[in-house]
Amino acid sequence: MTQPMFERVALIGLGLIGSSLAHVMRREGLAGHIAGHARSAATRDVAERLGFADSVHAKPADAVRGADLVMLCAPVGANASLAETISDHLAPGAILTDVGSVKAAVVRDVLPHVPKGVHFVPGHPIAGTEQSGPESGFAELFEHRWCILTPLDDSDADAVARLRLFWEACGSNVDIMDAEHHDRVLSVTSHLPQLIAYNIVTTAADLEEVTQQEVIKYSAGGFRDFTRLAASDPTMWRDVYLNNREAVLELLGRFSEDLSALQRAIRWGDGETLFSTFERSRDTRRRIIEAGQDTAEPNFGRED
Ligand code: NAP
Repeated sequence: MTQPMFERVALIGLGLIGSSLAHVMRREGLAGHIAGHARSAATRDVAERLGFADSVHAKPADAVRGADLVMLCAPVGANASLAETISDHLAPGAILTDVGSVKAAVVRDVLPHVPKGVHFVPGHPIAGTEQSGPESGFAELFEHRWCILTPLDDSDADAVARLRLFWEACGSNVDIMDAEHHDRVLSVTSHLPQLIAYNIVTTAADLEEVTQQEVIKYSAGGFRDFTRLAASDPTMWRDVYLNNREAVLELLGRFSEDLSALQRAIRWGDGETLFSTFERSRDTRRRIIEAGQDTAEPNFGRED
């Protein structure tokens, strides 16, 4: 049997991402021991029952003790206090990473608590579903998805290389960029679309002339695709907007201007503007499919 990549991996947070990591590490034999921590007894009980970790701990410090890889997998707003709690218990030479959807704020919150001799390399797997919690994880989540690492200027090159190999063994492609650039890219590809989804669902819920029953009944017209995003975990997304404020606000300004342009085109019957805008959008969809980031099947491969 080949040697595991890490002797002991500590997962702090056992929701969709933490439990998926545990499943894929098991399948690929990446960890000698998987130690998990979750905040609530309910989540720890599910983790014990499903058995995706070798040990489940009520205290984060007990999970990280002796670990050569520690992965913060809780909502980003929890990182500062988690990092402070585990700081004194991290093993010298350990790699400390995270999976948070924003990166500059994670560096701001975690770095002050990283002891000398521990290698901090922030990361973000661009993979997810609208499900959350310990029962939602599965080993294939990261397959063919990108994982972005945002090492600091003085991050240890070996630690970055080992973490890259780890994510590749989980099935991901790995890219490296700085934290600020990551936050700008993700504001476009993830944070704004998610906010639009939340907003459309809210608007539809407040309508007077169209009944809620009609909204649900005729949702296949497009609305239901937004509800998939809008069903995501509220804590995680609250923390994303609180921690990527500038990039999201700047983009929202651009978005509102573009929306006004479309509004104006509709008002003035400017079919040419509408058509050329929609034509360009089609091209973006084609490029996502060519890049293997979605299925080309009609209606996302759904049968109904
Ligand atoms: P999730 O399914 O809601 O799980 C979150 C986990 O963190 C749960 O085990 C929860 O424990 C634990 N937790 C919450 N607050 C905590 C605290 N204060 N201290 C300790 N543990 C705490 O969330 P997720 O989808 O796995 O997301 C986890 C991280 O991955 C987030 O930072 C998110 O930004 C990032 N991410 C998510 C996605 C996605 O699509 N979901 C994709 C990429 C990255 P309890 O269950 O006991 O509350």
